[in-house]
Amino acid sequence: LDMAAQVSPKIAGDIVNELADQRSHLKLIASENFSSLTTQLSMGNLLTDKYSEGFPYHRFYAGCDNVDSIESYAVEKAKELFGAEHAYVQPHSGADANLCAFWAILNQRVELPAYEEWGESNPANLGREKWEELRARFGSQKLLGLDYYSGGHLTHGYRQNVSARMFDAYSYAVNPATGLLDYDAIERQAMDIKPLILLAGYSAYPRLINFRRMGEIARKVGAVFMVDMAHFAGLVAGKVLTGDYDPVPWADIVTTTTHKTLRGPRGGLILCKKEFSESVDKGCPLVLGGPLPHVMAAKGIALTEALSPDFRSYAAKIVENSAALAAACIAEGIPVATGGTDNHLMLLDVRPFGLNGRQAETQLRDCGITLNRNALPFDPNGPWYTSGLRIGTPAVTTLGMGVPEMKKIASIIASVLKASHPLVLTKGANAGTTSKAKAETDPTVIVRARED
Ligand code: PLP
Repeated sequence: LDMAAQVSPKIAGDIVNELADQRSHLKLIASENFSSLTTQLSMGNLLTDKYSEGFPYHRFYAGCDNVDSIESYAVEKAKELFGAEHAYVQPHSGADANLCAFWAILNQRVELPAYEEWGESNPANLGREKWEELRARFGSQKLLGLDYYSGGHLTHGYRQNVSARMFDAYSYAVNPATGLLDYDAIERQAMDIKPLILLAGYSAYPRLINFRRMGEIARKVGAVFMVDMAHFAGLVAGKVLTGDYDPVPWADIVTTTTHKTLRGPRGGLILCKKEFSESVDKGCPLVLGGPLPHVMAAKGIALTEALSPDFRSYAAKIVENSAALAAACIAEGIPVATGGTDNHLMLLDVRPFGLNGRQAETQLRDCGITLNRNALPFDPNGPWYTSGLRIGTPAVTTLGMGVPEMKKIASIIASVLKASHPLVLTKGANAGTTSKAKAETDPTVIVRARED
């Protein structure tokens, strides 16, 4: 940091401030964690200077011997940790891993027409009509994933995401009455749509997914079964999610981030069956830019850490803490979506406190708790304001907290929510409007804690 300060005191100062922030605020963001110092230091080094397009021992650049060694080590550790047939550790992020997986599935299952069939060996001479035909063919491939408002990720076919431009995107939702996945309903929808890809996985679903059942649905309709386990990879690695709840045996292709419950560096990872391995390995350069060798080194370290018995007890404690926190929130009078949680996260409904999610998030942050607002299923407040908060226990569990601390956290959250009220405007065009109605529609209204 001293060296950074000599170049830019501003950046060095921001890094120190971030340390202070992460130490002074309780981190309840479900997708964040604290990676080990070993992981962080393996990332901050000269490996960042190396180009290594291609895959181990098959590169487009010279001088990749050490990167080959690092990448193949990380690949072997990923295979060992998850019991996978094949692993690819290059994706720079979870979104990139999903893009690579989509491309690999298209490449593997949707045959490219040979230009020669059309009497042309040079694609540049194909002509507009043929290109339109080609494009229509790809555009008509169907993706069926969990709806964003039911906890799916943007990359699972959200209308404005690139995934919805690559595919004819459809979504399945949770049951409005229970908030749970309804496998029979998903099966009926899949039979009707016949997607190329059935995608399972979530950013904000607090319950388990039966991947055996989802895999059966995919096979029944001839779809490739893809799982995005970005959120719960650490629970799979730590053997908390096993049998029907471990996606790896059932899915054709599994993507993940490495920085959430898995507690590694920021990055992505793909596991797949042999059928997809060659296409997945072509992710760089056909989808991704050059790999990040320093991050692959850190992935190798983090995956090795995740193979330790300590990591198994860590994963079990995440879920134990999550269940305790959800139960304590309910006891404090905060509604929890689906009545609890089976994994590392839960969704709180803040509407009974006269707040929207954005207000509750701001208020809690002012009181030293960092978490994020999140849409509840079928949320009338939309994705920006929302009616909910998403809370996760991976980071506080890394800090060594347990059930007694979860009870305290629930009590603090409840005190803050109960003591918050939307500001009543006394001046201006909206003077006299009721605070609740105003607060739900106007982002400039900020909630403040009562003096008491
Ligand atoms: N997939 C899921 C399920 C996620 O929750 C996220 C991020 O929150 C991603 C993919 C994207 O990961 P990244 O931010 O590393 O691109």
